[in-house]
Amino acid sequence: MISSDGKKRVLVTGGAGFLGSHLCERLIQGGHDVLCVDNFFTGRRDNIAHLLNDPSFELMRHDVTFPLYVEVDAIYNLACPASPVHYQHDPVQTTKTSVMGAINALGLAKRLRVPILQASTSEVYGDPTVHPQTEDYRGNVNPLGLRACYDEGKRCAETLFFDYYRQHNLAIKVVRIFNTYGPRMHPNDGRVVSNFIVQALRGEDITLYGDGLQTRAFCYVDDLIEGFVRMMGTAPGVTGPINIGNPHEITIRELADRILAITQSRSRLVFRPLPQDDPMQRCPDISQARAELDWQPSVSLEKGLSRTIAYFDRLLSGASRVHGN
Ligand code: NAD
Ligand code: UDP
Ligand code: UDP
Repeated sequence: MISSDGKKRVLVTGGAGFLGSHLCERLIQGGHDVLCVDNFFTGRRDNIAHLLNDPSFELMRHDVTFPLYVEVDAIYNLACPASPVHYQHDPVQTTKTSVMGAINALGLAKRLRVPILQASTSEVYGDPTVHPQTEDYRGNVNPLGLRACYDEGKRCAETLFFDYYRQHNLAIKVVRIFNTYGPRMHPNDGRVVSNFIVQALRGEDITLYGDGLQTRAFCYVDDLIEGFVRMMGTAPGVTGPINIGNPHEITIRELADRILAITQSRSRLVFRPLPQDDPMQRCPDISQARAELDWQPSVSLEKGLSRTIAYFDRLLSGASRVHGN
């Protein structure tokens, strides 16, 4: 099915979302045809509007919990809400999306005998007791908590990927994504980077959950997509799981300070209760990605935040932008 010039037809589930839309764009720039499948739960047409007239791009509205019969040369399985606010909105649907979505995508890959990449997550480590997190750490997840629909759904999806690998010899690629940010995050997404930037630009209070001393490590979207593409390009036996993220760890309070400095906003910091099961620290060990993919992030937090702030500034302009001064 792969044409002689190396051009492939690539399926991206969740292709109208934040990461998916960047991936679709990158694949098209790389000379491939893209089939974007999305049910628009958290994805937006705006994210892919610039691709709709491109002959290399095709959009299909479809819920991945149902079977999908298409013909493609490779599959990136991204469909799943990623923000805690969104994935907790309908937790049963979140688990279905992760688990049944994985089964259907794997069934498709098995019928077509094509490589399939799973967008897994650092959440499989839960509230980690090993720091930074290496791929062999088995995690500390509360299976009964509010985050479990996502964490356990993604863990089960990984199990399915490895069982299809062992049972059916599929070329699986499992990447564990750590907090990623950038243009096209949804302004009401609820994740920390978009919340703080929107709050700073509007001059609203910056909402720190807990004492703000919990840590995360933030990866700029372009770096992450490069990691995806490199992982898909590995030999069939390279399965992962492999951590993809930026190992530069900061506290949430420090993130707020950086955003306030770049936006020159006078928003105040306010403290709100820490959500249940919120991990206290998170940072990837990316030794494997460096060794196997020759990959590491190249965009600094300063530069990535500036680009993201510029995006939200454009998005919000026209709407009431208040500087708080
Ligand atoms: P997103 O919410 O912007 O994108 C998810 C996309 O999946 C949306 O377009 C949504 O409409 C679509 N979708 C959801 N349920 C679906 C269903 N049942 N059928 C079809 N489409 C469906 O989130 P994102 O940040 O782009 O995340 C993409 C993937 O990466 C997710 O699988 C997420 O778990 C994973 N991930 C992201 C991060 C991050 O920091 N952004 C971190 C870890 C893992
Ligand atoms: N499936 C799909 N598209 C395909 C092939 C399979 O959506 O091209 C779905 C199919 O509906 C099935 C799932 O993937 O429920 C798993 O497929 P598999 O062949 O592994 O299992 P089985 O069909 O034996 O249940
Ligand atoms: N957070 C915060 N204020 C917000 C949104 C999030 O302090 O307005 C905190 C949240 O409690 C968590 C961290 O920022 O400790 C990262 O949250 P996010 O939802 O972005 O991602 P995740 O918890 O999945 O890493």
